[in-house]
Amino acid sequence: MGTCIVCANESARTFDVMYEGGILTFDSFQCAIHRLAPLCAHCDCLIIGHVVESDAAIYCCTQCARSAQGLEPLGPAAAA
Ligand SMILES: [Zn+2]
Ligand SMILES: [Zn+2]
Repeated sequence: MGTCIVCANESARTFDVMYEGGILTFDSFQCAIHRLAPLCAHCDCLIIGHVVESDAAIYCCTQCARSAQGLEPLGPAAAA
């Protein structure tokens, strides 16, 4: 039995994640994502996949990284 550090659910199906020198216990990927996934510095969404790093900030996609820097978004209009 383990106890999820996010929702306090006690379950036999918890798993541990080593993170920054500590061990975090979760009962689901949902709770692990809630606790560990970074937020996009532009749109505040949880970043589940690869991040786009720019200077000291992390973004969910290149569109957010460009928008945060005051650049026009990429797209069909930009290519024309
Ligand atoms: Zn949980
Ligand atoms: Zn974003």
